Amino acid sequence: MVINNELCEKIYAGKRLTPMEALELFGWDLIDLGKAADFRMRLAHPENTVGFILDRIINFTNICRAGCAFCAFHARAGLIDPYELSFEEIEAKIAALMEAGGTQVMLQGGLHPDYGLKQYTQLLENVKARFPGIWLHSFSPAEVIHISEKEEMPVKGVIGALKNAGLDSMPGASDLLVDRIRNTVSPKKLTVSQWKEVMTALADQGLPSSATMTYGMGETIAEKIEHLVVVREVADRTGNIQAFIPWSFSPARTRLEHIVPATGVDYLKVVAISRIFLDNIRYIQAGWLTEGVRLAQIALSFGANDMGGVLTEELVVKATGVTTTSSRDEMIALVKNAGRAPVQRDSLYKIVHKY
Ligand code: SF4
Repeated sequence: MVINNELCEKIYAGKRLTPMEALELFGWDLIDLGKAADFRMRLAHPENTVGFILDRIINFTNICRAGCAFCAFHARAGLIDPYELSFEEIEAKIAALMEAGGTQVMLQGGLHPDYGLKQYTQLLENVKARFPGIWLHSFSPAEVIHISEKEEMPVKGVIGALKNAGLDSMPGASDLLVDRIRNTVSPKKLTVSQWKEVMTALADQGLPSSATMTYGMGETIAEKIEHLVVVREVADRTGNIQAFIPWSFSPARTRLEHIVPATGVDYLKVVAISRIFLDNIRYIQAGWLTEGVRLAQIALSFGANDMGGVLTEELVVKATGVTTTSSRDEMIALVKNAGRAPVQRDSLYKIVHKY
């Protein structure tokens, strides 16, 4: 497609794009788009660094009342037997993470019908009592709504209680923020407006967050942009979204197995357009867990500037058959080989070690 010079000038001048302009970018030649996104990334981050954090995801239960069609992890999907980790099992996993120099734990569960505020706050309190130095970047907006409905308690009350019990920040796991898609694939999870409500309450209580995007679930290109518009508006209003993490949906072993998986080109375009459109989010993460480390490495030339967590033990993506793993040394080599400077960071994106 012939590049619209006016749009090109706007991008290189660092200006904000309209949703229609972002839509046009999907038609651009991949390399032109990558160059523009890399320019925007360097405008915001002239330091050339790429961060990663040593963390561990602990999926403490797969019993879930939502039963989303895109999920192979929840117990009723039939692939993993129902389980609930005991605190001793969780403790052992965190002890192993600390031993390896890790700093952050992501506790994430299904929407267990019996877990209310008490189970969540006890878990936080137990972890903090045993490991006071660990950063708990945990749970999700869907879990907040689940607790809120179960306890008949306002969202801000739930978040306040979680914060008091030791929660430090929360991933803004957002799947695809398009009600048409959500009504089809995850009608029992949270709605777009509930997601916004949780994100606003997190900001009000000073708990940092992030946003994700799971695309490739049958949405149109315009609906991808619709998701980005919601994220940008919330980031404008709250100033509280630290990072954006796009993932492609892995259909294998899910009820959406008939969907053809998104390609590597789709992924690089989504990363690049996210970098250009989300001018109020500093970190665009390369999703190596779903895309593989090699494609994630290329994403570093398409606007991404963070590799996320590298000691991740994760079961939700793994349940779809994707088994990418990584280590600190591999991540350092990948980033250096991409011409960038690897740095270990903390949960607030401050550099703790340069390599
Ligand atoms: S994606 Fe989350 S909410 Fe949906 S079924 Fe899986 S575990 Fe439950």
